[in-house]
Amino acid sequence: MAKSPFINRLSRRDFLKSTSAAAIAGSMAATGCAGRKPVIIPDATGEPLPPRTLFGNGRLVSLPDGRVTPGWSLLIEDGRIVYAGPDKPFSGMEARRIDLAGEYLLPGLMDAHCHMTLPSAASFSPLLGPATWRQLRRNFENQLASGVTRVRDMGAMPPLLHTLVREVEKGELAGPDVITCNAIFNVDGGHPDITPSDVSWLAAMGSLFTGAPTVAFKEEELASAFEANCRNADFVKITLDNTSLIAGKPSINRYSDDALPAIFRLADAAGKPVAGHAMRRFGVRRALAYPIHSLEHTVSDGPLDETTLQKMVDKKVSVVPTTILANLYTLLDLAEPIPKGLLSRRAYLEAPIREAYLASVTEADVEPAIHHTNLAMLETMQKYPFSELYTRGDYTFNPHQYLPILTHGRQNLMRMKEAGIRIGCGTDAGVPLNYHGTIVRELQCMARLGFTNAEALTCATLNNAHILGMENEAGTLAPGKRADVITMAKNPVKDLAALNDLTLIVKNGTVYEKT
Ligand SMILES: [Zn+2]
Repeated sequence: MAKSPFINRLSRRDFLKSTSAAAIAGSMAATGCAGRKPVIIPDATGEPLPPRTLFGNGRLVSLPDGRVTPGWSLLIEDGRIVYAGPDKPFSGMEARRIDLAGEYLLPGLMDAHCHMTLPSAASFSPLLGPATWRQLRRNFENQLASGVTRVRDMGAMPPLLHTLVREVEKGELAGPDVITCNAIFNVDGGHPDITPSDVSWLAAMGSLFTGAPTVAFKEEELASAFEANCRNADFVKITLDNTSLIAGKPSINRYSDDALPAIFRLADAAGKPVAGHAMRRFGVRRALAYPIHSLEHTVSDGPLDETTLQKMVDKKVSVVPTTILANLYTLLDLAEPIPKGLLSRRAYLEAPIREAYLASVTEADVEPAIHHTNLAMLETMQKYPFSELYTRGDYTFNPHQYLPILTHGRQNLMRMKEAGIRIGCGTDAGVPLNYHGTIVRELQCMARLGFTNAEALTCATLNNAHILGMENEAGTLAPGKRADVITMAKNPVKDLAALNDLTLIVKNGTVYEKT
């Protein structure tokens, strides 16, 4: 295996411990960013490893029932599980033997909605350039360190993503395996919320090298644009809503009823599933006219009607709710007052959880410059009303879109769950304030909204495996599947916080240990 960049990370960390760390530490302490958490390193010792790895004496956590079975073994060969069952000595077999000493075993987690090439920053300032470059690589490391062995990337900079994914495949960058999507199609050539004209000219120039996050083209050019953009993508991402997520942005354009069928036809002919961004009933109803594979985010602008819900069941649509957005973007203390009707008891419950989290963020979680930019955005939102924010070029999230996730959104999600609709787990990490490596926060948020811990864990493993199209490859600890395993000292079904202290992370049979 090639030398891991984590080795470089470690020496950088050592360096930071010395003199020049003082300045950074000072500024971090001011925002509660003190301290570090351990990173993980692969077991690339340079020594040839035995052909097999045998994990013994573990406690298997079964999902979805959450049952725990002690005395469990896993035998791994060529990156796959070849035995999963009660402890057996396998005497005489050449294997690297790891005694789990009663620790808990789960399949590797999956993040079905994240943006690996977005830096989680609220600003497009070119001044963030160096921090952004560092952060994009750290996105991979932090995801893996949090127990995420596979992700479905929901778009940003496809060529750059493919470069980083190749580094992961070659063992030069520690990170999850990635299911990739195209540059997002949009009429205006932007995410409906951030069009090219919204970003700085320097950032726009940067996209010449990194690949444009989204592609603008006339509807009559669909076929050639599809070929150019989706050739290397595992699936197709489109946006379906008719309102913007950006505070104060007056309107957004959308595809015509002629263009959408064409996109689905092209995707179908290429054998690529389609994922649709839909937080509004408008987008969901529109999507259901087509063979949509998954709906992204939580539909929350009002109660879903029975017909729509039944259609979702009939069409076997999956949903990736990204509920953590309600926690991160449910802001109550803003210059523009929040209408009373939007406030709920749950909003007041989420606010202190977000505050405590933001105060706990360290430079191990995110590049300090990025975190500072995000905290500055929160302050700006306390100064100006939404329309003024947009005119000033401060593109911040619109709480009117996110607050209802805690009311209508939650009720819709619970009804989907009861109706047997497959619900996955995605963090939307990469968008402002939403740092990679935080899947535990999404799981905990799902639990606060009404999922049991075991259900939430099932969403992030078995259900996500289906959504990633990998149900025969991952999602459970069964013979024949890829060896994606995480271990921890405490039972995650009792308390999801157990996921904050992973002891081992195994991806495709490679064992990563925390330093
Ligand atoms: Zn997203």
